[in-house]
Amino acid sequence: MDVTPPAQSVIDTDTLAGAVRAGERRALARAITLVESARDDHRAAARALVAELSKSGRQALRIGLSGTPGVGKSTFIESFGCFLTAQGLRVAVLAVDPSSARSGGSILGDKTRMERLSRDPLAFIRPSPSRTHLGGVARRTREAVALCEAAGFDIVLIETVGVGQSETMVAEMCDLFLLLLAPAGGDELQGVKRGIMEMADLILVNKADGDLKPAAMRTRADYAGALRLLRRRPQDPDGFPKALSVSALEEDGLATAWEEMQFLAQWRRDHGHWQSRRAMQARHWFEEEVRHSLLARLTREPLKGVMEHLGTLVGQGARTPDEAAAELLAHMGR
Ligand code: GDP
Repeated sequence: MDVTPPAQSVIDTDTLAGAVRAGERRALARAITLVESARDDHRAAARALVAELSKSGRQALRIGLSGTPGVGKSTFIESFGCFLTAQGLRVAVLAVDPSSARSGGSILGDKTRMERLSRDPLAFIRPSPSRTHLGGVARRTREAVALCEAAGFDIVLIETVGVGQSETMVAEMCDLFLLLLAPAGGDELQGVKRGIMEMADLILVNKADGDLKPAAMRTRADYAGALRLLRRRPQDPDGFPKALSVSALEEDGLATAWEEMQFLAQWRRDHGHWQSRRAMQARHWFEEEVRHSLLARLTREPLKGVMEHLGTLVGQGARTPDEAAAELLAHMGR
């Protein structure tokens, strides 16, 4: 009898998990490449790896950072990152970049950015994955966050460009959410959507230096006023969300911003909001994963063919849309 050996995965997830846990950067980079892969066998290995590493129980402070192109996100991450590593903290930087989903290229992945931080032995910078769609990118970034956490990083910074849905996704994977703004020219608020303001724990008005300083102070005051009008969230201590001014370029205001972040994080830990936020996020990603998998099934046979066939029948008036949908769902259950 011909006994074919079982197909073996070339990835030894136990060894890889051990190396990630030991904080080996190359292993971490490999592990992130693994979770970014769409191949079925890689997905299975990635799932095992993330599950194994989630047992480590290590928790980093996950900080989301959003802002439109040009407000100074890279400059801020570079100076804030170096500020943190100077205190002996280990910092990982990840990015969710919707533009990479569209073009295949990545502005956030630009190698020349954050040069000083990228040379820092306490820092790890991962360029944005250039993947098919934002949902996929976000999902993999979330797993990459978990890997950085298991690798013993104290802070994970997750950067996103302030457009579209990407902020909401980043807010669903971080403990604190920062919104970076530039000083406004006039006294008007910069078309920041209310939803994004409501997600922000700290608004940082950047470029508070040189000629821009007075405008930055005014903008800060405007936002402080606008934030006071928002309903206070039960997970926040008095005075939050806050607006501060910083200069990423001159490394000014970073210590104050960091103090506020630590205060807020500690307050949430002490009051159980930290844990409940993480629990809610885990549920959210579970549901997203289910949704994503169900939708993926619709694009594959046999359901793809059933859907096309039913679509034709609906077009011919032979089924109502509702009937056809019910029929399709019945098929899914099989
Ligand atoms: P990003 O697109 O949000 O990542 O923005 P960058 O970090 O690339 O910065 C965009 C421009 O703003 C660059 O020319 C920076 O030098 C400048 N910039 C960033 N931070 C500051 C700051 O604190 N003060 C001033 N004056 N310029 C800044």
